[in-house]
Amino acid sequence: MNAVGVDVGGTKIAAGVVTSEGEVLNEARYPTPAARGRLLESIAGAIEEVMGSHEVGGVCLAVPGLILAQENKVVFSPNLRAIEGIPLKGELEPRIGVPLTIENDANAAAWGEFRFGAGSEIDNLVFVTLGTGIGGGVITEGVLLRGAQGSGGELGHTTIHATGPRCACGNRGCLEALASGTAIQRRAREVASEQPGSALGRLAIERTVLGEDVTRLAQEGDKAALAVLEETGRWLGIGLASFVNVFNPEVIAVGGGAAKAGELILASAREEVQLRARPPSRDLVEVMEASLGPESGVLGAAALARDPSSGEYVLGG
Ligand SMILES: [Zn+2]
Repeated sequence: MNAVGVDVGGTKIAAGVVTSEGEVLNEARYPTPAARGRLLESIAGAIEEVMGSHEVGGVCLAVPGLILAQENKVVFSPNLRAIEGIPLKGELEPRIGVPLTIENDANAAAWGEFRFGAGSEIDNLVFVTLGTGIGGGVITEGVLLRGAQGSGGELGHTTIHATGPRCACGNRGCLEALASGTAIQRRAREVASEQPGSALGRLAIERTVLGEDVTRLAQEGDKAALAVLEETGRWLGIGLASFVNVFNPEVIAVGGGAAKAGELILASAREEVQLRARPPSRDLVEVMEASLGPESGVLGAAALARDPSSGEYVLGG
């Protein structure tokens, strides 16, 4: 039986019918409406469009923010305020006529990598996504870590610097505040003003420097841009070293837009892991790029859809 995965993001809603082998049979994409009233319409519309004539055993919505799993709603979503408080299951299930579950988007992406990507051969995976913020998901012994309320696995809000920069969550020195795409942009501005003669410095005088500019300039050999990414990798590695000690994963997969910098970030992250994590965990773990890209959300959500009568995942596994 197939399942539908829906990745509800701040800018777009992506839905797909997925087979148990991870093949996407049909896909739909809609812009995310800003108005609360139209959000449900767009989500339902995307689900109905992809289902078409396909036989589907369940639907899972991957949504950004803090979820209360028992209540099937999002309680806090700074990047998608319109979704907060909507009883998603109660509103959508009668309309689509298929059982619906909801899951945090980073947990769903982690599960996608676990089932069909970088973690498909192993049982213990830590997934970290470097975007505007930092999302995370943890699979230990084949089980997705959710915690008591379904809000566990928030790896991006691990404190790694007691007096570090303010994070979007209100805390200081979270991993997200030091190693996300947003943090790269902030650090690039600082380094550009310290080194105005560098390619990074010259670009910053012309216009706002984006994360992808830093990656491009680093790939072209600009020392200032390289230093920004190397430093970002060090902060990331400090966070990852703790995850290695706590979870003893076989693989840490790093995804998201900023992960396109690849080795420019990951090389120094691995060095920090080797310096800081404890054996034997540090000797086992492999820190690598995630393999699915933005599809991991839809694939992972589909793989988390459940059959309520058996409690099992519709796609098995
Ligand atoms: Zn935070």
